[in-house]
Amino acid sequence: MKYLVIADIHANIEAFEAVLDKASSIGYDRLVFLGDVVGYGANPEECIMMLKSRMSYGVAGNHDRAIIDDSELSFFNEIAREAIIWTRNKLKNSPHLNFLKSLPYTQEIEPGITITHSSISAPEYWDYILSPYEAQIEFESAEFAVMLFGHTHVPGGFEYIGQEVIPIDDYTIHLDSSRRYILNPGSVGQPRDGDNRASFAILDTDKKVFQIYRVHYSFEEQQRKIKEAGLPLQLATRLEIGR
Ligand code: ZN
Repeated sequence: MKYLVIADIHANIEAFEAVLDKASSIGYDRLVFLGDVVGYGANPEECIMMLKSRMSYGVAGNHDRAIIDDSELSFFNEIAREAIIWTRNKLKNSPHLNFLKSLPYTQEIEPGITITHSSISAPEYWDYILSPYEAQIEFESAEFAVMLFGHTHVPGGFEYIGQEVIPIDDYTIHLDSSRRYILNPGSVGQPRDGDNRASFAILDTDKKVFQIYRVHYSFEEQQRKIKEAGLPLQLATRLEIGR
């Protein structure tokens, strides 16, 4: 099975289209979504529609939840909150709100492979897995062989060998069945690793490879729309620097 694994689209339709084009040319069987289809960008509705018609498995991100649940707003900084409020207005009375409501926090997509947005130890708290210490908590909190996550907007992950957690920053990750993995495809619509290209991954469970890809897209077009929408200017500038 070849899974297209995507996270953190953040209403950036130009990036999302570029990822789908590239992934189609590579070929995949099922699309797996790791949360945050909306927030920050100017095309929430278009991104939800495009995702909904293609998604096989998906989980909710903090931005997805914040659209439908007021108690989530306290987790956000001012700029993010402003974007959430803009997105809520945009999606007011939209039939797509039910799609956001339907997304669970975690899901097992096949035996041993679990998906989540932030963590599986406490998915509703939206913690960031950035260090081996944080990864260790995940490895010890559940029995998965592979956990796929998003939220950090940084591709890569961690492997668990014996009791040791090793960070991985390769783009080609060969999965050894005696080890366990926490893997992140990076962000489609708002990369934060200093590379402004959209990021995604293909998980091939037959070949046992998690392959990360980067693809150029017209961030200038999304920047123009963000400015035109009156969204915070930083949300446009960061797309160019990839931070
Ligand atoms: Zn995100």
